[in-house]
Amino acid sequence: MVRPMEAAQVQKLDAAIRDVPDFPKPGILFKDITPVMADGDLFKLSIAAFLDIAEELGPVDKIVGIDARGFIFGAAVAHHLGIGFIPVRKKGKLPWETESVAYDLEYGSNEVEIHTDAVQPGESVLLVDDLLATGGTAGAAVDLIEKIGGKLLGLAFLIELGFLNGREKLGDAEVRSILTY
Ligand code: AMP
Repeated sequence: MVRPMEAAQVQKLDAAIRDVPDFPKPGILFKDITPVMADGDLFKLSIAAFLDIAEELGPVDKIVGIDARGFIFGAAVAHHLGIGFIPVRKKGKLPWETESVAYDLEYGSNEVEIHTDAVQPGESVLLVDDLLATGGTAGAAVDLIEKIGGKLLGLAFLIELGFLNGREKLGDAEVRSILTY
């Protein structure tokens, strides 16, 4: 039985997230999650919420985290579950054989990579990241997992910017967010 996070706990996380206008460029309201990570109780609370999602969608064989804040949450979740953690990294950072997927940003494009042997065929994977915005990054990570033979259980985010409709890029995938704006 998965317990939904209590409203008071969601509120505590919400209160700690810092809105930074015009970062990294004009017009973007950046959701700064560093205060959540810097507070032991809040960090634990956020990981507990991710663990609830893992329990709901699981059993999970591997956690895939997206460069860079997805590493922080994803690694903590994997450690707690006693399962492996796999990084999806920006192009050129992974040393072994990789699969890569390019995707469009608002201006220009980006490319992310995963090691080809990061999951065994058929292993169940939960994707973790800090924030779902337009869904471009998460969509590319989903493609990477599928390319190397992983079975996607779903995606878990601390924050979803609902007004950007990122879910639409994720097709039928199960998407769970701890906080939605
Ligand atoms: P997207 O590909 O548009 O869904 O962007 C997702 C990635 O960009 C996430 O991994 C976030 O870390 C970062 N990001 C995008 N928009 C914001 C925002 N408003 N505040 C904080 N991080 C953001």
